[in-house]
Amino acid sequence: MRRYTEEQEGWLRANYGRGTVRDTLDAFEARFGWRPSSGALYQKAHKMRLEKAVGEADRAARAQVRMRWSSPECAEMREWMLENDSTEGVQATIDAFEARFGIRLCRSQVTLFRSSHGTQKRSPRRPAEGLPVGTERKGRGGLVKVKVKAHPDVPCSKDNWRYKHHLAWEEANGRPVPEGCAIVFADGDPGNCDPGNLVAVPKRYAGQLNNPRLPGYGDAETLRACVALADLRSAVGAAEKGSPRRCGVCGATFTPTEKQRGYRRGVQTCPACLAAGRHAPGVRDGGEDGTCSVCGATYRKSIRTQTRCPGCIAAAREASARRKRKKEDGR
Ligand SMILES: [Zn+2]
Ligand SMILES: [Zn+2]
Repeated sequence: MRRYTEEQEGWLRANYGRGTVRDTLDAFEARFGWRPSSGALYQKAHKMRLEKAVGEADRAARAQVRMRWSSPECAEMREWMLENDSTEGVQATIDAFEARFGIRLCRSQVTLFRSSHGTQKRSPRRPAEGLPVGTERKGRGGLVKVKVKAHPDVPCSKDNWRYKHHLAWEEANGRPVPEGCAIVFADGDPGNCDPGNLVAVPKRYAGQLNNPRLPGYGDAETLRACVALADLRSAVGAAEKGSPRRCGVCGATFTPTEKQRGYRRGVQTCPACLAAGRHAPGVRDGGEDGTCSVCGATYRKSIRTQTRCPGCIAAAREASARRKRKKEDGR
């Protein structure tokens, strides 16, 4: 990092407010013979508590309040927008919104609301067709998207691009991807869109598929078996959570309430005792033997997710086993 001299700091104090960032950079370079990056200059100015003077036009273009339309606090405003945003003029909506809620939105907040809620009516400029329909492009995680239409249905969205594996699954099965399902690559290769490699998995189980306590999968058959197992386990879990049991405090038999069934761990105290402020001591599940991931010793787990022996935990409370192993391998 380059140090700014007192002279340079003084110059910034006197001149930073004027013009655009680029103007300042140019002037700075002309004066001192070196050019900081725009980010570095901004950081420096920020530390010196300097700001660019903002013109009236700029101020109107900037958001005054951050709007998170999906948050519960914004629910009322969101409803209002859905009902009253006429999609005629952005300015009319800005004025009406301010009259109703006292918050002045900026133009991009209104247009962003429209495009994210599918209410954008104004068709975007269509300069050219862009990429031809059928173009493929690799996206996040190696997943391939295909351009299926020249233009999106919802203006300013990208709904004319679809996942290649979704299309392949739909073609093979003759129906759209079921609601709430993910299409999983059975062999784990996001480039393999062969219909035999694609399985629709309810999203509530998709996360469990990588659970090390489930047997792994490598093809469509084993993947389906894994999904069936996850399904079974969740049914067993639900039944167990709702089964009658003895209260650990008063000894009475009780059936867990709806709310108690939602808890991750087994409930051992009846609602009456809970209301009186008493809790059964509870049993921490664990109890099985584990192999320490750091030193390899066998130890008795005190909780299920424990990965290190008590000795290693005492030796390095903070470092996770994985980090520690990495460190040792690195040496
Ligand atoms: Zn009780
Ligand atoms: Zn150990």
